[in-house]
Amino acid sequence: MKDRQEDHSSSAASVKIVINPATMESIAKTELLYHKGDPPLTATVTVLVCIPFTQLVDDLKPLFKGAPEDAYIVATDKTVFYAKGGGQPADVGTMNTDSAAGAVFQVRGVMRAPSGAVLHLGTFEGAGGPFQVGHAVQQQVDAETRNLHSRIHDGGHIVSLAIRRLAPTIGEVTDLKAQHYPDSSWVEFKGLIDGKHKAEIEAAANAVVEQDLPITVCWWSKDELVERCLAVPDTLHIPQGELARAVDIEGAGAYACGGTHMRTTGEVGRITVRKISRQKGISKVSYCLA
Ligand SMILES: [Zn+2]
Repeated sequence: MKDRQEDHSSSAASVKIVINPATMESIAKTELLYHKGDPPLTATVTVLVCIPFTQLVDDLKPLFKGAPEDAYIVATDKTVFYAKGGGQPADVGTMNTDSAAGAVFQVRGVMRAPSGAVLHLGTFEGAGGPFQVGHAVQQQVDAETRNLHSRIHDGGHIVSLAIRRLAPTIGEVTDLKAQHYPDSSWVEFKGLIDGKHKAEIEAAANAVVEQDLPITVCWWSKDELVERCLAVPDTLHIPQGELARAVDIEGAGAYACGGTHMRTTGEVGRITVRKISRQKGISKVSYCLA
């Protein structure tokens, strides 16, 4: 499915970045370590910005609704944290300095600013905070949360694939948007899918799970993307000479996608199709992991 809120362009190489912490305007794109095929959950990164949330430029404050009063914003040259987008929630985890008495920053929200900078919202625990700009810190993503989000995300792609495989029975539909949250997971299609197909879709999705197909992350040109993906958003802009990220469920189909993924469909586990609803020519298929 198309994850249209996402920026699919390739991540910029690590560069020397000079930032105005009051505006974030000059911040370059943060290097997205989670874009790699086998994303690391830990990394040593350099702090570029560490400011109280209240000092963040007003334009960016709405990214973090309900931020606690004592929250800080930390930006780093690269990050292992998945920023909310493409229908997938952000990672949680910690950042800390190496020294025993060092600061521990609990990451509670991760968003990408329009500049491409990844902003981590969190609170400092214990003594030692806030971080000094220019210092190295260790990032650690909570593995359990990442695993759950990746399973749910791939579950959505598998439901979409199942619906496409069943096109001869249920009719042709076009992928629209999707959401892969633990409490609300669904994929939307242009076209009508009758509720009577629920069991069939669930069976076809679980057949893909049982096949335990490899899931691989690819970087393709726009032409390759159009040729190999099941749905490429019309709005997807890929700058000249850059590649776009895609996820390929080998032998089943590929999608333009910036999310995090499992290694095989078997790792997703059993999928339950909860409900199919239809409104104004759009069908919404809700699912959850059993
Ligand atoms: Zn995706």
